[in-house]
Amino acid sequence: MKVNTKFLNNLVSEISTDQMMEHLQEFSRWKKLAGTTEEAQSLNYIRGVLNSYGLKTTLLYHDAFISLPEAAHLDFNGKRFKAITHSMALPTSEAGLTRKIIDLGSASQETFDATDVRDQIVLIDGMATPEMAKRCRHAGAVGQIHISPHEYLHEMCLSPVWGNPDSETVKNLPTSSAVTISDEDGKIIREQLTITPALPATIHAKVDTGWRKTPILIADLEAKNALKDAPYILFSGHHDTWYEGVMDNGSANATMMEVTRCMAKNRNAMKRHLRLCFWSGHSQGRYSGSTWFADQYWHELERNCAVHVNVDSTGGEGNTLLSTAPAATELSELAQDVIKRHSGQEHDGIRMARNSDQSFWGIGIPSLFGILSCQPAETVGVRNALGWWWHTPYDKIERINPALLLRDTQIYANALGYLVSDPYLPLNIAAQVADLLSNLAEIQLPSECSLSLTALHAEVEELHKEMIVFQEKRLDSPEAYLKRDRTLMLVSRQLVPLDYTYGDQHRHDPALPLPKWPSLETLRNLADETGGSDALRLRQGLAIRSSNRLLSNVRNARALITR
Ligand SMILES: [Zn+2]
Repeated sequence: MKVNTKFLNNLVSEISTDQMMEHLQEFSRWKKLAGTTEEAQSLNYIRGVLNSYGLKTTLLYHDAFISLPEAAHLDFNGKRFKAITHSMALPTSEAGLTRKIIDLGSASQETFDATDVRDQIVLIDGMATPEMAKRCRHAGAVGQIHISPHEYLHEMCLSPVWGNPDSETVKNLPTSSAVTISDEDGKIIREQLTITPALPATIHAKVDTGWRKTPILIADLEAKNALKDAPYILFSGHHDTWYEGVMDNGSANATMMEVTRCMAKNRNAMKRHLRLCFWSGHSQGRYSGSTWFADQYWHELERNCAVHVNVDSTGGEGNTLLSTAPAATELSELAQDVIKRHSGQEHDGIRMARNSDQSFWGIGIPSLFGILSCQPAETVGVRNALGWWWHTPYDKIERINPALLLRDTQIYANALGYLVSDPYLPLNIAAQVADLLSNLAEIQLPSECSLSLTALHAEVEELHKEMIVFQEKRLDSPEAYLKRDRTLMLVSRQLVPLDYTYGDQHRHDPALPLPKWPSLETLRNLADETGGSDALRLRQGLAIRSSNRLLSNVRNARALITR
């Protein structure tokens, strides 16, 4: 059996720009901060629309640690500067936080290491990121002034803690107050500091942080003719926003709704179900919604979710670059195919990054996309390169280009169309295993250490060969296709946690940059050591445990496909 091209063509050609622009008019009405009434009203609108398409919808509420920035300004050298504060930053007292300013420029780790910033305010070029909050916490700085790359001030969440804090991760929450000012104001302050170094500044910032109830909307589109045990494809995007957030993430929500409308009309051709999740707590809770959902429904997701597709900020004006859309290696052929078809661009094969509600890697679910379209590289970039209006009050309907929204939504429709209808679930796990092989080959352990990777290499090579044979096998019955789906899912449960987590799959790694195949990181660290040093011996302990874990998972994967 081949892929149903009629279904795919219908699905893609029925996507309507008018329908999506109508949704965006609705989303323009509400500021959807996590846990607020306006967020609930907007979500209610989505629920009504999805019910009218024949989906079964469920609204959940759960406890979330949410931080809403309020009024802020900065006083310096007798002048008041316009500023915003940030989600998860500490609020200041009424009198403000007054300390000397230390200018760290772009604030690399080396600069932090070389400078005593304890109990001071640091001045930093660029946006307020979790990485900078972490460096400030370690270095003991109590205040952060971030200089925006331009006149616009971008809302940010500072916490590196993925999801709600728990009794172990609560210590990693930010411990400083923070503001962002414009590039012009940054220049004024910096010039004054070169004349009179270590002048004090006063940060005034109100931040409303605490536990509140936030919603998750789930909507299920059942495949009409699927076998009883058919898995589902998770299609998710955040619904909470900064300001009205018509692009981020209104347009993506419109994409979700429109793909679903067209799929519901053609559901007879679906072999797998579609589940939509609209998260809260993305913008002001560091992915608290998706993380809670992953923990709460772990076993159900492990058993039935075949792939997670995420969507963020579709159709932004000038967002013409698609080649950097992230995809897991096993899904990058699919990404390449659908991106090329609708834009003519080649996909770079770029990996998923640690953002965009990617809370399901520990479970072992392969993931596709997040931010699909960006500003071209030559545009002066901000974080994520989504346009100067991103995370500002200017994220309005005027910033949406209907033609680009249609293009992006057709790409999603096409990718999801394959995922729900292709009798052969389009996961190229052999490519993922080849990627593991090449990453392993880069690691040369020092001759002094007692650990050898020979057995692991051999097992991964065998898995690669067996995976190719498995994927090329042609089948002839719905039961055989379903069995193939189920086997690939079980193999993913073994490999995705190696590809995208450091170790414990039941924890969530922090919202900080993640190396490729983080499970190899302790082996890479060991490879950096030379001689029979104590440092080598210390690193050996962690490395041998990682290699044991890798070998076990690879052997489990082999047993699954050769059974
Ligand atoms: Zn977003």
